Amino acid sequence: MPEQIQAVKGMNDILPPDSARWEWFEEAVRALMRRYGYQNIRVPIVEPTPLFVRGLGEVTDIVEKEMYSFVDGMNGDALTLRPEGTAGVVRAAIEHSMLYDGGKRLYYMGPMFRHERPQRGRYRQFHQVGVEALGHAGPDVDAEVILMCRTLWRDLGLADVRLELNCLGQPAERRAHRAALVTHFETHRELLDAEAQRRLHSNPLRILDTKNPAMQALVEAAPRLMDHLGDESLAHFEGLCRMLDAAGQPYRVNHRLVRGMDYYSLTVFEWITDRLGAQGTVCGGGRYDGLVELIGGKPAPGIGWGLGIERVLDLLQQSGTAPPPPVPDAYAIVPDAAALPVAVPVCETLRAAGVAVLMHAGGGSMKSQFRRADASGARWALVFGGSEMAAGMVALKPLRDATTAQTARPLGDVSAWASELLKR
Ligand code: ATP
Ligand code: MG
Repeated sequence: MPEQIQAVKGMNDILPPDSARWEWFEEAVRALMRRYGYQNIRVPIVEPTPLFVRGLGEVTDIVEKEMYSFVDGMNGDALTLRPEGTAGVVRAAIEHSMLYDGGKRLYYMGPMFRHERPQRGRYRQFHQVGVEALGHAGPDVDAEVILMCRTLWRDLGLADVRLELNCLGQPAERRAHRAALVTHFETHRELLDAEAQRRLHSNPLRILDTKNPAMQALVEAAPRLMDHLGDESLAHFEGLCRMLDAAGQPYRVNHRLVRGMDYYSLTVFEWITDRLGAQGTVCGGGRYDGLVELIGGKPAPGIGWGLGIERVLDLLQQSGTAPPPPVPDAYAIVPDAAALPVAVPVCETLRAAGVAVLMHAGGGSMKSQFRRADASGARWALVFGGSEMAAGMVALKPLRDATTAQTARPLGDVSAWASELLKR
């Protein structure tokens, strides 16, 4: 026997009936995007490696150690499986001059790839929904993208997701803060772990993100970026807070929220839950006013978020709010193969009328076909039995309701009774 081949570690198959929850979630997302006027964009899963190195920044977790990068053996191109969605969407917006006539509100859904240690809520192929609002300086659009997440939680029936916010200011303000930060950490050099030592001069802001308990006090005492912000940045942040207040959306200002990517400016935020253990951030985003220019476009502001679908579905399962997988309306039982030329077109007519019909395949006794019908969850069995067929009829047997008797309907006039099968 040839050796069995298994999926790549950290990359999951999504199988029925689980996949039905994915489809249900994707439908909820599409309905949300329609209401907010966000249009779908589909960009390649593979991009030139320099797009991410330049867009995300060299001293980021993703670029340093998480990217699936390879050389295309056919032509020597340096390529990368996309680790996130924003860089590709911004590249496409520039390449197709999408911003020439003003802003664009876009969304995407699909797989992302990061070489991380697989664990609950952390996979090597995972899936994101993301939005990117390009060409709008905010803070009204900042409030919009944040509040559309709240609407999604409500649509999904999720209650325990809270909002954290911060303002990263502009590059000059960050430079001033960075200098103060470096001074602070240098004075306490002996308290820094190896990673922090390494980041002290390359990316000291990321030290604030440390999960090392021994460094918490040092990090708490560090100078705050908020204290280095100028009037414009503060006005932007206060404008956003006012709109969130007015919309009744609570938030916590988290001064240590910096997020992984270099490209963020001004507003950054995360939606967090305590119900998923260590991987509690279900959605993260922020403003990236410098990114379009960095990738080679005419300067234009942008803001967006990325949501981890696996984490949201896990949360839905925890809270028991996901709907049960869909079941067929009817299950067609055909005890004698000679009846198939009658049964097949009847099922086709029913499906054309919107009825979900699962037709028994593979023959077998009436009894075994009824067992399948029961297991399918269908509300009705359509029995193409010998005596009914001889009378030009098909039997309708309710499978979930013992109080209703079996009846028969004419084979010649299917559309007259098709809608009966849709009633719940
Ligand atoms: P984390 O701190 O958990 O590593 P991140 O800051 O790297 O998250 P982002 O790049 O902001 O995450 O991605 C947005 C969202 O995508 C995250 O909030 C999370 O829900 C999800 N996500 C990120 N990495 C993974 C992964 N490896 N597996 C599953 N979901 C992920
Ligand atoms: Mg990460």
